[in-house]
Amino acid sequence: MTQTEEIMKVYYDCVMPTYARVPVVLVRGKGVNAYDIEGKEFLDFFPGWAVSGIGHCHPKVVRAIKEQAGKMIHVSNNFYNELQGKLAAKIIQHSFGVAGGKVFFCNSGAEANEAAIKLARRAGYPFGKYEIITMEGSFHGRTLAAITATAQPKYQEGFGPLPGGFVYAKFNDLESVLSKITDKTAAIMLEPIQGEGGINVGSDEFIKGLRKVCDEKKILLIFDEVQTGMGRTGKMFCYQHYGVTPDIMTLAKTLGGGFPIGAMVAGKEIADTLQPGMHASTFGGGPLACAASLATFEAIEEGDLVEKAVRRGRYLHNRLSLLKKDFPFVHVVRGKGLMQAVELTIEGRHIVDKCAEMGLLINCTQAKILRVMPPLTVKNSDIDKALGIIEQAMKGIEVES
Ligand SMILES: *Cc1c(COP(=O)(O)O)cnc(C)c1O
Repeated sequence: MTQTEEIMKVYYDCVMPTYARVPVVLVRGKGVNAYDIEGKEFLDFFPGWAVSGIGHCHPKVVRAIKEQAGKMIHVSNNFYNELQGKLAAKIIQHSFGVAGGKVFFCNSGAEANEAAIKLARRAGYPFGKYEIITMEGSFHGRTLAAITATAQPKYQEGFGPLPGGFVYAKFNDLESVLSKITDKTAAIMLEPIQGEGGINVGSDEFIKGLRKVCDEKKILLIFDEVQTGMGRTGKMFCYQHYGVTPDIMTLAKTLGGGFPIGAMVAGKEIADTLQPGMHASTFGGGPLACAASLATFEAIEEGDLVEKAVRRGRYLHNRLSLLKKDFPFVHVVRGKGLMQAVELTIEGRHIVDKCAEMGLLINCTQAKILRVMPPLTVKNSDIDKALGIIEQAMKGIEVES
């Protein structure tokens, strides 16, 4: 038995089978590379669903965690912790800015969305408004409220009864959303680019139209930026492409540079809705997580990584688009910045498996969509190398026609 097989056996015996796992045991990471227990090197173009969005073990993040771990690992939220305040100010500086806003900290994307749902309901409570409109093809996480917000039957089946008050509309279809608005609508919640749903980019018309109708009807606009946030799309937050501001934004994934942290950010008008006793998280905003996140912001700012995401993203997009010439099953390439998808007319999982064998990690979502999201620190030479592997993998595909 290889070491990998031994570890897989322990998983088979003792770990709940909630994931379809690649048969690789990752033990070490550095920048765009990850290494398995057998010593094999991978180019990681899907680092933990974008959790390690500034690369594995960014030196600033490593240093911040090490230093803070020696001082204090946890501070309970009935005390003040300097780093939580600093991080909140940093997030507001990059989002709501001078208009002001406030942050609630938690530990994951689903929790951030739960918090957003609770805030929206509580804000609507005096007016009898509680319904939340979400989009078909969305993904908001795996808690009960989050799978209910996630308008995809496959995530909900068998877990009912689900919480009430969620209404589904079609993404990028303003008429569809308008038809679902009632006098009970508290919020409209969406990802500006649907990630798990296949890198579906919100159109300018749609996002601007939502902002307008939300203003007119006093509905809260919630952007789930768990995947799109922190520079990934070529702006610090994806909504900044559209010239609109949400009322609430949720963050996680890259926010901690690899360390678990989630955040729910709300504009000034509603930022004081949740008063003491209404919502909480024991671990939320702990000093280790905040230190890691502050170091992540520093790395993004000092490394000019948002601007790099624009340029590297364009290069990646162009390289991926060239695949269309050689492979008839490559249907369309789309995305913003370093959040790119290659939609195929065939199943993508064989290509993903072949890429992994050849040392490139990418993802397949919605069966036919290859998701490519390298760290913001990726170089053009890494992209060239990855494309070489993808081409090799695609060459081996037999297309049944
Ligand atoms: C990953 C993801 C979530 C869920 O985050 P968890 O940390 O797994 O709870 C929510 N929304 C979006 C858009 C995501 O990509």
